[in-house]
This record gives sequence, C-alpha cells and structure tokens, in this order.
Amino acid sequence: MDARTPLIAGNWKMFKTPQEAARDAAALAELVKGVEGVDVMIAPTFACLVPVAQALEGSAVALGAQNMHWETEGAYTGELSGPMLKAAGCSHVIIGHSERRQYFGETDETVNKKIKAALEAGLKAVLCIGETEEERDQEKTLNVLDKQLKDGLKDIFPGSGEDALVVAYEPVWAIGTGKTATDDQAQEAHAFIRKVLAELLGKDLAKSTRILYGGSVKPANIAALMSKPDIDGGLVGGASLDPETFSQIVKFQ
Ligand code: PEP
Repeated sequence: MDARTPLIAGNWKMFKTPQEAARDAAALAELVKGVEGVDVMIAPTFACLVPVAQALEGSAVALGAQNMHWETEGAYTGELSGPMLKAAGCSHVIIGHSERRQYFGETDETVNKKIKAALEAGLKAVLCIGETEEERDQEKTLNVLDKQLKDGLKDIFPGSGEDALVVAYEPVWAIGTGKTATDDQAQEAHAFIRKVLAELLGKDLAKSTRILYGGSVKPANIAALMSKPDIDGGLVGGASLDPETFSQIVKFQ
C-alpha cells in the first residue's frame, strides 16, 4: 500500500491581484521545476484563476479554487460552478474551509452538495474538516471529525479515480495562529479520519485517499509532520503566499 503521492497545496485566500498572482505562480513553477514525488497545487481567488492558469501552462503545478456552488449554473449572484472552474483551468477545489464555515454559513449539508457537484464536474475535491479550540478542550475532537466526515461525505462514492477526494485536517485553532498541532496530535486525528473513511468508502479507497494537515505549516515543521504514516501532505495558508517559502515546503524531503 502507501502509494500515496504527497500533495502540498497552497490556499492563497483573499490575497494577491491577478497580476501578482500570475507573477508568483510563474515564480513558483520555476522554483519547483523538476521536483519529483510530490504533487503541488495552488488555490488563488476566483479573479486570479485564468491568469494563473496561463502562468502555469506547461508546469506540473495544479490549479485549484477555494470554493464553488453546487449547481452548474443559474441565478446565484456572486457564485461559480464546478464546470466553470474546470473551464477556467482548475483541477482541484477546496470545500468547507473553516473560514467559509465560520464567516459564510457553510454547513456539512452544503459541503456535501458541493463535493458531489465537484466530483461530478471532474474536479478533485479537498474536503476541509477540523475542530475548534473549545471542542478540543472538551475532548470532542474525534466526535467533530466523525460528524463532519459522515455528513460531508453522505452518499458520496468517488468514482472518478482513486485520488478524486482529498481530506484536509485543519484544527481551527491552528489556522493562521502560529500554533501547530503536534505531530502526534495530527497523526492521531489522521489515523481516525482514515478509519472513518474506511467505514464510509471501503478500505481500498481509505488507503489511497490523501489526508493533508493544515494549520500554520511552514518550512520548519513540514518534515516532522510528513514523517507520520497518515499525513500525506499539507494545506498551507500564510506560508504559501511567498513562492520561495512555499517551494521550501514542497521540497520538504
Ligand atoms: C489554511 O488557510 O488552510 C491554513 C492552514 O492557513 P495557515 O497555514 O495560515 O494556518
């Protein structure tokens, strides 16, 4: 087993103009050129998708979006659909990021609809889950992860290849705070997630599904996280914004 290729994904959140994003994407593509054995993805804002797709042409760096709507088209002002993201050059989409859950009313139900729609559109879906600090303090972490996985993946059978679904474990208290889960805390959560995935999707798919860790990942902590058996990569926010820093994370080995 363990043919899981690590994935290092950058979430650029609401940063960079289209010009800055295209420039930084081109710089990153150059910095990681020739790096083998690791997949790389960056997710800029919607406005940056097309210029970044152009900047990444011929590069192995994949393009992702940070969100999508579950319908293919319609009267949904301000939204974008899976087929639109695909046509803009995306191969991936992040779904259910804690900032979307916290500030934009994302629920496990909308996450579920979006994952279905993403897979339908032929996008790889990066499902984000994770507990708040309060939930961790109350020892509810595993219950929260169990619920987010079971509700988020309800009636989902990724049929479009064994790497169509990616799960990102992102403890909310570690996002943008400089606090990182210890390698052991992260491994415990990842092993649990894989166990739930086996119940939901079957053992084979659970084994081949990549589970990323997210929460203040940086060049100094990525190698230790990646040494854990169930950690298959990172979803990186702040430290993905600078191409040089992000390329160091990509080259963790
Ligand atoms: C994120 O936004 O997914 C994230 C993990 O952010 P940061 O790396 O800045 O904590």
